[in-house]
Amino acid sequence: MTESDSATLTALDLNLTDSSQHSVPTGDHHTVVANASQHTLQAADNQDVEANSSSCSSPTAPEFIAPMTFEQNQEKLKAQLTAGFKGLQLPDDSLLKFVDYCKADRVIVEVNQIVSLFNGQCPEIGCNGIRNVTDQKIEGGVLLITHRCSEGHGGVWSSSAVLAEKRGQKLYVSSVLLASSVLVSGNNFEKVSLLAKGMNLKYVSSSFFSRMQSLYALPSITDLWSKMKEVVWKVFENDVLVICGDSRMDSPGFSAKYCVYTMMEHYLNIIVDLEVVDKREAGGTSTLMEKMGCKRLLERLMTNLKLGEFVSDASRVIMKMVRELKGTCIE
Ligand SMILES: [Zn+2]
Repeated sequence: MTESDSATLTALDLNLTDSSQHSVPTGDHHTVVANASQHTLQAADNQDVEANSSSCSSPTAPEFIAPMTFEQNQEKLKAQLTAGFKGLQLPDDSLLKFVDYCKADRVIVEVNQIVSLFNGQCPEIGCNGIRNVTDQKIEGGVLLITHRCSEGHGGVWSSSAVLAEKRGQKLYVSSVLLASSVLVSGNNFEKVSLLAKGMNLKYVSSSFFSRMQSLYALPSITDLWSKMKEVVWKVFENDVLVICGDSRMDSPGFSAKYCVYTMMEHYLNIIVDLEVVDKREAGGTSTLMEKMGCKRLLERLMTNLKLGEFVSDASRVIMKMVRELKGTCIE
């Protein structure tokens, strides 16, 4: 189950249409990714993470209709989850502008092809001047062309819409999307920038990416995940759950620094919670991180949901800890 449980994206990789596989339906995933991108754009535009909020509808309280077979109950839960997640994906009025930004088509174009369009006859009506490019530069993956004709007409053209402007500094939509899309698609900056380098595609810098990540993308993703978790917990609140748990380290062996422990509902393959443990929290012992993450999650889930069974791998540390918590451990 650890195939997709990276620290931030597992929360988004929820499978609602096919409970037999832990793969993500392309359409749903894209919608959620786009939704996270819109929130990121909104956060960047607001220039204030605190102000980033959206009104998302909560699922209605489940109605219990007895008698119901196990399969019927699963279908009911699946429908409630689907409705709850769709509610989160509906943009409110404050998000509509950012939805349009996200939906705008983008292509890869060679710079020379664009520059050549600015050389030649001035497009100003009645002007017979010849226009030339006087300056061109690329900032944050955005091409800026300064052009001027012999009669004085001119301006600055940019390859992206402006998202926000502060103290004369422009923040471009493409720059923010280049940075935030890395996170919401489950990638990492080094890999994607290497791809860009391979084709000489001008990309955002590492420092810009870090700034976008910490200021806008991560708070937006965390906000969306917490809302999704609310939906999941609400839907499962009356059911006795079979929970599967496993951990994933950020790197193999004893060099691991972070551990992500993920809890998944067994029948619908829905992630119900996850926990990230830092090696420093475990006293510098990476092997203790898994136990810490699992314990925190079990304690949290036992408080908020009804746990019937907990399924994990045959880790002696985990089994001992679960016995101490007085749970049921199935290997
Ligand atoms: Zn002109």
